[in-house]
Amino acid sequence: MSAELDSLYQEIILDHYKNPHHKGLRDPYEAEVHHVNPTCGDEVTLRVHVADGVVADVSYDSVGCSISQASASVMTDLVIGKPVAEAMAVHEEFLALMQGKGTVEPDEEVLEDGIAFAGVAKFPARVKCALLSWMAWKDATTRSLEETP
Ligand code: ZN
Repeated sequence: MSAELDSLYQEIILDHYKNPHHKGLRDPYEAEVHHVNPTCGDEVTLRVHVADGVVADVSYDSVGCSISQASASVMTDLVIGKPVAEAMAVHEEFLALMQGKGTVEPDEEVLEDGIAFAGVAKFPARVKCALLSWMAWKDATTRSLEETP
């Protein structure tokens, strides 16, 4: 990865960290989860509201490093308003990027600002930071679907 691209990615992450999107816990919601990344000390409490098969809202409260916080902001941008199946597909795409050890070329059409985490994928210790809110979202969404048949 070029130094130029690396600094662009860092800028995107810093921007989401400083101005997080959709932050704060909101009603209504069907499921609330609390996930922790003990290796870094990141924590997220996350709520999901699903209506008519669409991710109507994802709200969260989080503490931790810039990567974990920025990732939560990017994740909400990507899943809110999408049908659950489509949002799960984006989740899979992000997971593949993060587990690719820096070898997976990110698809900007699908991941938008999520491509900024391509650089993080090279650092195993930080991958958990980036995935924390995504795993919390999947957990909460699965639970909310069980609540509302
Ligand atoms: Zn972290």
